[in-house]
Amino acid sequence: MLTTPDFTEITPTADIRTDRHGNRAKCLQRLVRLDLPVPPTVALPFDTVRAIAQGRMPDLAQVLGLFGPDTLVSVRSSSEAADWGGPGTILNIGMNDAQAERLAAIHGQSAADAFYVNFIRSYAVDVLRLDEDAFEGPLTPRLAKSQFEDEMEEEFPQDPTVQLAQVLKSMARAWEGTTARLLRQAKGAPADAGLGLVVQQMALGPGKGLSGAGVVQFVSSETGEPQVTGRYLPQGQGRAALSKSEARYIEHDERGPSLEDDAPETVAALREAALLMRTRLREEMQIEFTLMDGHLSLLDAVRAPRSARAEVAIAVSLAEDGIIPRHEALTRIAPNTLNQMLHRQVLPDPHRDVLTTGIAAAPGAAQGRICFTAAAAQASAAKGEACILVRRETSPEDIRGMHAADAILTERGGMTSHAAVIARGLGVPCVAGATQLQIDSRKKSLTVPGRKVFHEGDIITVDGSSGEVLVGAATMIEPALGGAFATLMDWADAERDIGIRANADTAGDAAMAQRFGVDGIGLCRTEHMFFEAGRLTVMREMIFAENPEDRAAALERLLPMQRADFQGLFELMRGQPVCIRLFDPPLHEFLPGDREGIHALAEALDLPASRVASRIENLQEFNPMLGMRGVRLGITVPEIYEMQARAIFEATIAASRKGAPVVPEIMIPLVSARREVELVKARIDGVASAVKSETRKEFTYRLGVMVETPRAALRAGEIAEHSAFLSFGTNDLTQMTYGLSRDDAGRFMSAYVHQGVFAEDPFTQLDIDGVGELLLLGAERGREARPDVTLSLCGEHGGHPQSIGFCRRAGFDYVSCSPFRVPVAKLAAAQLSI
Ligand code: PEP
Ligand code: MG
Repeated sequence: MLTTPDFTEITPTADIRTDRHGNRAKCLQRLVRLDLPVPPTVALPFDTVRAIAQGRMPDLAQVLGLFGPDTLVSVRSSSEAADWGGPGTILNIGMNDAQAERLAAIHGQSAADAFYVNFIRSYAVDVLRLDEDAFEGPLTPRLAKSQFEDEMEEEFPQDPTVQLAQVLKSMARAWEGTTARLLRQAKGAPADAGLGLVVQQMALGPGKGLSGAGVVQFVSSETGEPQVTGRYLPQGQGRAALSKSEARYIEHDERGPSLEDDAPETVAALREAALLMRTRLREEMQIEFTLMDGHLSLLDAVRAPRSARAEVAIAVSLAEDGIIPRHEALTRIAPNTLNQMLHRQVLPDPHRDVLTTGIAAAPGAAQGRICFTAAAAQASAAKGEACILVRRETSPEDIRGMHAADAILTERGGMTSHAAVIARGLGVPCVAGATQLQIDSRKKSLTVPGRKVFHEGDIITVDGSSGEVLVGAATMIEPALGGAFATLMDWADAERDIGIRANADTAGDAAMAQRFGVDGIGLCRTEHMFFEAGRLTVMREMIFAENPEDRAAALERLLPMQRADFQGLFELMRGQPVCIRLFDPPLHEFLPGDREGIHALAEALDLPASRVASRIENLQEFNPMLGMRGVRLGITVPEIYEMQARAIFEATIAASRKGAPVVPEIMIPLVSARREVELVKARIDGVASAVKSETRKEFTYRLGVMVETPRAALRAGEIAEHSAFLSFGTNDLTQMTYGLSRDDAGRFMSAYVHQGVFAEDPFTQLDIDGVGELLLLGAERGREARPDVTLSLCGEHGGHPQSIGFCRRAGFDYVSCSPFRVPVAKLAAAQLSI
């Protein structure tokens, strides 16, 4: 068996592989092959680094021997995919008394001292994780070494192999920490992802003549458009140029002195190197470089960091320039990246109620209920409720709650605080360092001076783009999505071979879906329309009607409202299919739950409160989700479905008169038996005939069934005989297949996932093994009985790449997901068909 050596010098012909040595090592080899001036470098593969974490060191004297005497080295991490992260770079390993003396002879005592102190500090704080405070303030090497001795109870190591061993061990172990693991898993890394390390000869920044270090890229990280970005620090090292105010610009710049003023040929060489990398490495790179007495070295090149927007712009521009094929532009972008581009923003409203401000630490805005603990945030997310995690500051124990939260707000910390870094990594909006906040975690409340006190559960809006925290749910605006994003979506549309529709209940949802270019509406949940102000009372009158005449009168008032709803949707969708689901939830959901509400309803209905209360009690069920809802209600109170069918047909006629002919799709929820479909179909056909004869207008419609009970999946054959389409509602189907309440599962879901009972929450990630088998059975039986039956999935799983892959393999016609998931779904679908 071939084994990978413990380490390999990076030469043009060495066997360096991304899946063994990581992407940085591979990239450095490519630079070497392009004949770019890279200092000597050695790559340590994943296996070696795993062994180091367990205490087994390779022969470091041999490693250092490759660089020759008196060489300082750096160590950088090299994970398999660039965005999986890794511990930060450590510079100047090998620095000791002898080297300090040597440097003093060349650069003078004070430069050498500063250099030595910096290394001792970095070794103590970054490598050995000693307290930073002990190494603050002005220090001499002697003082720094004695601080080190105090903290460690041993002398500062002089032996370069000892220093290197410690650095390697610390980096190898950092990779195994929980935070690092969760962060990279959020980017799609497998649980056992390896870390490679590269050891490189230092090209010292401090020196004679034109010496220093810088970082440069030729695209904007924000927009992906061409733009020279970076800094150069004379006598500097590493990436210090990016954070020091005395650093220079790269290009000639009216804002201040630039590297181009001093060394135009260096800037030209950097530009040429970046262009070479763009065409040959087929990527926009960020280059780390040093100058030693005017001599240029390229130490490292990484994919230029980029926002989601820049990521799309760069991929599209590489494809448009013929550097990569379109297919590759589509496959390069992880579908979930698009989520970040779709960040909503707060409407810049002069009347918005700003509670406080902090640092805009991670972009996007979100609103939700205040949660003061990570556990509360997780519980809230499990219930499907948006939440804002509010903490004085966050720490690694909060990571799961941060993942679950819609936004994060902290009292302390800045751009690089734990909260800010993690939030950006997770793509969650964050405002950090809102110093006016007064958080009382015992009372679970927050306030700012002069404002009312907010409690857990109150709603606030966090705008991570502006740093503002707003009272209540602020008005949001949708992101502007043109240019490269639209091009990418066009390419995805041309590639994908499965339809993508949106779940849309309101005109706003439908308009958003249209902006994303959907193939239609796959699920319009009509019950949401009855919660609107003004309608709820009529709805309640309908529920409370004691005889068919009173019920008919209430439904008569609901009819025009529903007709207007549907007409609006049809007109917005301009002839594209719109699938309307008939009324689904239990009636008592529309009734008040507290005494105050009961009194208000009694007044409105002019009934004694006791009568209202007892009627509500009669409607209560032990298990409403398995009770009188969906088609069961449609059969026992058929007037509701009849009213909805009439509204749909009348809207069809009105909308078709104005624009493209509309063929509405009517979907029956919660079916479990063929007879249910027959009964409802007979009534709806009856309404259609009545409307046609009243109006003397013709129209067609498609009647279908929502398959969301296990029995409907099993009996899909006979159900399909009466159904033009079957749409799998995987939310209820998951609930009923597992016997697991959608509304209560959050209580134990994290324990279940933690202990590996479920690999993932099955309400988030489709359970291919169990629920998936029912889908396959249902699809097969349905198709056998009716070969032209349309098949689709419309549960929350519809927007997830894994379920889209499943549906595509099963030959489904489309998936339907929330409007905001549409771009993700389109890209995932395109990638699956490439
Ligand atoms: C479903 O059950 O999958 C579904 C889409 O319907 P709802 O979520 O409205 O129950
Ligand atoms: Mg359902």
